Amino acid sequence: MTTKPKWAFFEGQIVPFDQAKVSIMTHTLNYGTGAFAGIRAYWNPDEERMYIFRILDHFRRFLSSARFLYAQVDYTPEQLAEITVELVAREDWRQDCYIRPLLYKAEEAIGVRLHNLRDAVAIFTIPFGKYIQDEEGAKVCVSSWRRVNDNAIPARGKLIGSYMNSAAIKTEAMLNGFDEAIVLNEDGHVAEGSAENLFIVRDGALITPPVYSNILEGITRRTLIQLAREEFEIPVVERQIDRSELYVADEAFFCGTGVQIVAIASIDHRPIGGGRIGPLTQKLRDLYFRIVRGYEPRYSHWLTPVPAGARAGARPQ
Ligand code: PMP
Repeated sequence: MTTKPKWAFFEGQIVPFDQAKVSIMTHTLNYGTGAFAGIRAYWNPDEERMYIFRILDHFRRFLSSARFLYAQVDYTPEQLAEITVELVAREDWRQDCYIRPLLYKAEEAIGVRLHNLRDAVAIFTIPFGKYIQDEEGAKVCVSSWRRVNDNAIPARGKLIGSYMNSAAIKTEAMLNGFDEAIVLNEDGHVAEGSAENLFIVRDGALITPPVYSNILEGITRRTLIQLAREEFEIPVVERQIDRSELYVADEAFFCGTGVQIVAIASIDHRPIGGGRIGPLTQKLRDLYFRIVRGYEPRYSHWLTPVPAGARAGARPQ
């Protein structure tokens, strides 16, 4: 990812990206005391327009992460969405991009705590394609790491410090030749991927771990539960999944804003289903991509169009 943004939202205004800098004494840089979001904007080439997917849901979750941090955020989800639309319009990428809002303890301070520290919000966007190269057949393992527990660092929050856990999971998987890993809870049941939620298919039903399984309450997960039920009348069950169920699943896939929908071809070298993308995964994936790019008007309430404003594309001086 080498393309740099031209602009950033920083200290209350949109500034040239190179001006958005923090000190090495910043509290969050020292202690991981922050939160973030990951939002996608999709380019519709026919309409020559960007659509941001479920932006308000992402900012609502961002502000709920703020509660774990004792953070004081002076913006509503609507205000954060408005700033983001302006930022995306100014960048004028004309291709799919990723939006990264950050909430951090901006104070230069030594001392581990959450209270009595100034909070700040920053946002930037970058062009973004695939997160996993083989989206129709990822090779996956079960991690030797365990998912962070709710009583340690709540996985329900998108908290910066807890991504040390995700990073360890991802690196172990990749250095062992896999694309991604599934991580178990301390009790041995399935939680999720390093940075994505997980579904399996058994006997025509979609099964996914419940929100109390130390998972991030994914917006893509919620989207797919609704689409499966409403569009395809596929039963969806939220329940604990045993590790051994992974190996006997008919299909399995990851979902998330970054990963989008990635079919799992094998887990721990055991082929899943036919060892390639299964029919149910394919159906959901096809519909999802049509929705996020603005080709399914009945879901347009999930999309925020980015107007090609007068200032769009202007380069910082
Ligand atoms: N779990 C984790 C740990 C994640 O980092 C993500 C990515 N945000 C997800 C699940 C998927 O969440 P969402 O669909 O809201 O992007």
